[in-house]
Amino acid sequence: MHPHLRLGRLAGIEIGIHYSWILIATLITLSLGAHFAEVNPQWTIGVIWSAAVVTGLLFFASIVVHELGHALVARARGLPVRSITLFALGGVASIEKDAADARTEFWMGIAGPLTSVGIGVVCMGLAWALGWGTNLTPADPPMAVLVWLGYINVMLAAFNMIPGFPLDGGRVLRAAVWGVTGNADRATRIAARIGQGVALLFIMFGVWQFFSGAGVGSLWIALIGWFLLDAAGAAYFQMETVATLKGLRVRDIMADDCFRIGARTSLQTFADDYLLRTGQRCFVVEDHGQVAGLITAVDLKQVPRDRWTHTTVDAVMRPLSRLRTVTPDMPVVDALQAMGREDVNQLPVVSNGRLEGMLSRGRIVQILQTRAELSM
Ligand SMILES: [Zn+2]
Repeated sequence: MHPHLRLGRLAGIEIGIHYSWILIATLITLSLGAHFAEVNPQWTIGVIWSAAVVTGLLFFASIVVHELGHALVARARGLPVRSITLFALGGVASIEKDAADARTEFWMGIAGPLTSVGIGVVCMGLAWALGWGTNLTPADPPMAVLVWLGYINVMLAAFNMIPGFPLDGGRVLRAAVWGVTGNADRATRIAARIGQGVALLFIMFGVWQFFSGAGVGSLWIALIGWFLLDAAGAAYFQMETVATLKGLRVRDIMADDCFRIGARTSLQTFADDYLLRTGQRCFVVEDHGQVAGLITAVDLKQVPRDRWTHTTVDAVMRPLSRLRTVTPDMPVVDALQAMGREDVNQLPVVSNGRLEGMLSRGRIVQILQTRAELSM
């Protein structure tokens, strides 16, 4: 998930927001305001909305702390964490590698819910210290904010502990199956399947509630179910991909018959004689026998057509020094992850400063298709 808005860094981890979060944050604040207005009719408009905004912001902070819980455990266990992004259905910490053992997976998964329960208990405790009793509606604004925050954090932990991958509970379940069977792939398969089952139950329950007249709110449950179904399917697919590509190295599937093109070739010649004639997508630019960079159809399109005759390829190519490269010995799975991080469809394969070939996403997809057909 790519953040649209960067808020800054916390403990060296970038915190960002996806647009969808802003919509949800507004909805949450509005419904909090409506809730406070209903249970505390004696409050002024100013008090109601200040309480709603403060609660909304603190809820936002709680979700960041929940994700930090996951992120800090991951980092303590040697897994680099890049960012935390908040989106419509909560937060997601982007951890660059998967856990290497069941124990790490377990602690990483449970850290978030434990953090949320901790926040919930502290908020409730503070409200209690201010004189709140469980049997009364908190009338004092700070107390109301604390009680609501406490409640929502405990709910957040409970929701996340639903045993459907990729929810935290699903990760914990996966870790447990992994620990017992010693088989990580099988654990993912089981956790993802249960995740899909849970998601279907959410959808059916939401739709059933809606048609029983429970209001539009029940459609939320169905929507969350839909998201979970999608995420569980993606997790399953990713696991199958990793399992299929296991053992394959970049060398095994890279293309080493890249078309080469002189640095001083004009873009017009490049388009007419190379791009359109060969149907290849990527070309190696050579300068005095050395690989200087890469040029693709996308780079060509950056230049207006009327300038193609007097612009040379080295003016628009991507220099090799600025490209992310992979080595022939790298596992294909790692290279695929690197492509995802860099948001590119091909990577030059370089060994000892020499270009050995190109690895393309299309080639990886081909391998996956062929193996799926043979069900290997
Ligand atoms: Zn979590």
